[in-house]
Amino acid sequence: MAYHWEGEPGDTRTITYGWLNDEVRRFANVLRGLGIGKGDTVAIYMGRVPEIIVAMLACAKIGAPHTVIYGGFSEQALSDRINDAKSRVLVTCDGAWLRGKTVNLKDIADLAIEKSPTIEKVVVYKRTQQDVKWVEGRDLWWHDVVADASPQAETEVMDAEDPLFILYTSGSTGKPKGILHTHGGYMVYSSTTLAWVFDLKPDDVYWCAADPGWITGHSYIVYAPLILGVTSLMYEGAPTHPGYDRWWDLVAKYQVSILYCAPTAIRGLMRYGDEWPAKHDMSSLRLLGSVGEPINPEAWRWFYKQVGGERCPIMDTWWQTETGGFMITPMPVTPLKPGSATRPFPGIDIDVVDDEGNSCPPNVDGRLVIKQPWPAMLRTVWGDDDRYIAQYWNAFPEQGWYLAGDSARRDEDGYIWVIGRIDDVIKVSGYRLGTAEVESGLVSHASVAEAAVIGIPDELRGSVIYAYCILVAGQYGSEELADALKDHIRKEIGPIAVPTKIEFVSVLPKTRSGKIMRRVLKARAMGTPEGDTSTLEE
Ligand code: AMP
Repeated sequence: MAYHWEGEPGDTRTITYGWLNDEVRRFANVLRGLGIGKGDTVAIYMGRVPEIIVAMLACAKIGAPHTVIYGGFSEQALSDRINDAKSRVLVTCDGAWLRGKTVNLKDIADLAIEKSPTIEKVVVYKRTQQDVKWVEGRDLWWHDVVADASPQAETEVMDAEDPLFILYTSGSTGKPKGILHTHGGYMVYSSTTLAWVFDLKPDDVYWCAADPGWITGHSYIVYAPLILGVTSLMYEGAPTHPGYDRWWDLVAKYQVSILYCAPTAIRGLMRYGDEWPAKHDMSSLRLLGSVGEPINPEAWRWFYKQVGGERCPIMDTWWQTETGGFMITPMPVTPLKPGSATRPFPGIDIDVVDDEGNSCPPNVDGRLVIKQPWPAMLRTVWGDDDRYIAQYWNAFPEQGWYLAGDSARRDEDGYIWVIGRIDDVIKVSGYRLGTAEVESGLVSHASVAEAAVIGIPDELRGSVIYAYCILVAGQYGSEELADALKDHIRKEIGPIAVPTKIEFVSVLPKTRSGKIMRRVLKARAMGTPEGDTSTLEE
C-alpha cells in the first residue's frame, strides 16, 4: 500500500505501489504523445488527489522537469510561473474540494492560460464533476487519454545532475524564484533524512499533512516515502471540515503512527480547545513532526500533550525549499527543547555567524549559514544564475558559504534556535527582537490564538512593534485586553518587546503554506503599496 487516500467529502481510495506503477507508465506515454520529452517542463496545477503524484512521477520518468503550482494560487501566480518555466503542457483538475465547497481549478487555469501563450495542451483530471469550459483541440480529459495509453514505458536515462523539478518560492522581492532540484542528490538526501528522522518501520502509517504543491509535499509526501516503500495517508481537504476534529478522526481511523505538519495548523486547531483531540483514540501515534516556521512553545506543548499524549517526541525540522530536505532536526533519541530544531543533521555543516563571518558565541544572534554543500541543495534559480548567486552566495563570497536568510542563535548546549527570516528581525532601541519571539509571547496568553508583529519605523527607537492578534473563539478585543497583553509581553520578554499598538483581527494575510505575510501588514499599516498579493490565502 502506498497511500490511504481520503477525500474531503469522505470518499476513500486505496493506492498501491502496483497501481501507481501502471498509472505512471500510462501517463508517461500520454506526455510523450503530446511531444514532451527530456528537458521540457510540465506545469501541474491540481488538488490533493493521487493523480498529482502520478503526474509528477510520470514527468520524472521521462526526464521532463515538473513545476507544481499549489492548487490555491490565483490565476496571476499560476500564469507567472508557467511563463517563467515556459511549459507547453498543463495538467489540472476540474475542481478541488475545500471546506465543503469546490475550488474551480479549471476556470482559474483557463484565465491563466490567456496570459500564458506557451501552453499547447491541457490535461484535465475529473474530480468534482463540475461543469467546465472546454477548448476543443487544446483540452483533453485525463480518463480518456490515460485509458488509451499503454502501461509499458521506458524510463529515460538521466544524469544525476539533470533537472528533476522547479519549485517556485517567494523571495525578498515580489518575483518568485524557480528553485531547481536535480535527480540524484535530491532523491538520496530526501529519502535518507526521512528514514533517519522519522525512524520508519514497515508497519508505520505516516501522514505528512502538507500539500504536494510545496517543498514539504514534494520531498516528504511524494519522493522520499515512495523511495522508502512507506504507507502514507493523504487527505484532500481542510483540517476543520466538517468538524474541528477531522484530523484527529483521520488519525484514529487510519491508525496513523507519525504525524508531520505545520505550527500554523497546530495553532489553528489548538484554538478550538482540548475537547476535539480528546474525542478520539490517538494511541497509534508514536512520533510527531513540525515544519515551516519556528514552533512557539505554547503550540509545542499543546501538540505534545493533547495530540501526542506526552508520549511522542516532536521532530522540529528546519529546512527550506532550497535545501530539499531536513537540515537542522532532532532524531527520535535526541533530547528535545520546545522551540528548538536542535542540531544539524549528520554531515551538515551549519554555523551561526556575525556580519564578518565570525562564529557567534552562545546565545548571541547571528546569520544562519551552511558551510559545505549537501546532496539536495538547490542548483540554481531557473533561468537566472545571477539571482542565484546574488541571493545565496554573495554574503560570504570568499568563504563560499550558503546564506539561508534566517537569523538564529546557538545555546550553550549547541542547540540551534531559529529566530526567523532576517527581514523579520526588528530592532527596537538597538535591541534585536524576532517577530517570532514576540508572537510566541502573545500566543502564550490564554486569549490569543494567533499573532503577527511587524516593525514600524520610529524616530526615537528605530522601530516600534505593531501587533495583530486573532483571539480564541469566544473572546473579544477591548482596551483592557490590549493592556493585559502588553503587561503579559512585558513579563514574558521585557519592556523592550511591548507592542506600541495591538489590533484585534479575524484573519491574517498568509501564503498558501501558512506563513504570515508581514510585509503586507507593514505596507497596510504604513500606507505604502502592498506589492504582489496574488499568492495570499487570506
Ligand atoms: P520554505 O522554503 O517555504 O519551506 O521556507 C523556509 C523557511 O521557513 C526557513 O528559511 C525558515 O525561516 C522557516 N522554517 C522552516 N522550518 C522551520 C523550523 N522548523 N523552525 C524555524 N523556522 C523554520
